[in-house]
Amino acid sequence: MKISELLKTKEVTISCELFPPKKGSELEKAHEVVREMAQLHPSFMSVTYGASGGISEHTVDLANEVQNVNGVLALAHLTCASSDRNKIQEVLRELKEHNIENILALRGDIPSDLDFPLPNQYHHASELIQEIRSFGDFCIGGACYPEGHPEAESIEADIDHLKQKVEAGCEFLTTQMFFDNNILYNFLYRTLKKGIEVPVIAGIMPVTNVKQIKRITSLSGTILPQRFRAVVERFAEEPAALKQAGIAYATDQIIDLIANGVNNVHIYTMNKPDVAGAILRNLSEIYKAEQKL
Ligand code: FAD
Repeated sequence: MKISELLKTKEVTISCELFPPKKGSELEKAHEVVREMAQLHPSFMSVTYGASGGISEHTVDLANEVQNVNGVLALAHLTCASSDRNKIQEVLRELKEHNIENILALRGDIPSDLDFPLPNQYHHASELIQEIRSFGDFCIGGACYPEGHPEAESIEADIDHLKQKVEAGCEFLTTQMFFDNNILYNFLYRTLKKGIEVPVIAGIMPVTNVKQIKRITSLSGTILPQRFRAVVERFAEEPAALKQAGIAYATDQIIDLIANGVNNVHIYTMNKPDVAGAILRNLSEIYKAEQKL
């Protein structure tokens, strides 16, 4: 099933994210995470490509495990900063062979030690999207940034580029994490005004440990509202309490989003089925989980 079709229903969708392991030897553990996550019946599971230090080589393998072994719709990420055009073609062929028809097309972060783009690379996600579109019948999603992408000269310029991405063939967007829903509502207003009408999936990050918070604060531009900072300050020294509070904060954000008509939510589950499970249990009457393949 194409995610664009799934998002056309009026139902609430909740998806989860996995990242492939850093080492091949950890692949079996990753398969276990897939199995545990699949038992929660998310609307779909996305598998990152080279993010958080994960190895891109395992993305297709894990997406196959998600969809063809565990029966949950898979969304395979694909980036063009770390792959040349030949590699992109190879991955697209592999995805086709495994019947994985949903791709999140991204530029990826530019490695600081490399010249980018090399002559046989795509420069922007929009170029990758055009390439995937001409390759075959995939449903293509892209990333968007409610607070603006850190490299963009302004939010307006970023939204102009987002429009190009949608015109290139992007059928849905998933947002970068945000901790204040008003930022998303403001962004949705601006994108609609610009004529961007594809569904936007709200990306929610449950923050459950101090290490994660340090990483988020190092990401330029992510605003941490006072309410969030108070939670972190109060429970920083109590890991179990911080985890519980982080799950509650994310649940609260999701309920507010759904109450305001944002029906599609992606949880950055960071390979933690227990965190995903706790949030989905909190939403059991709101999100009626079922297999959607
Ligand atoms: P683009 O859409 O190409 O935009 C990047 C920058 O270029 C923006 O500032 C934009 O305004 C600008 N730009 C775009 N088009 C033009 C143009 N024509 N002219 C001038 N400027 C332009 N990273 C990974 O490595 N692996 C992953 O699996 C991964 N998954 C992600 C999932 C989500 C939901 C999100 C939000 C991010 C993810 N990332 C991942 C991180 C992402 O790769 C980085 O944020 C990257 O820096 C930008 O990727 P993009 O696809 O948004 O790029």
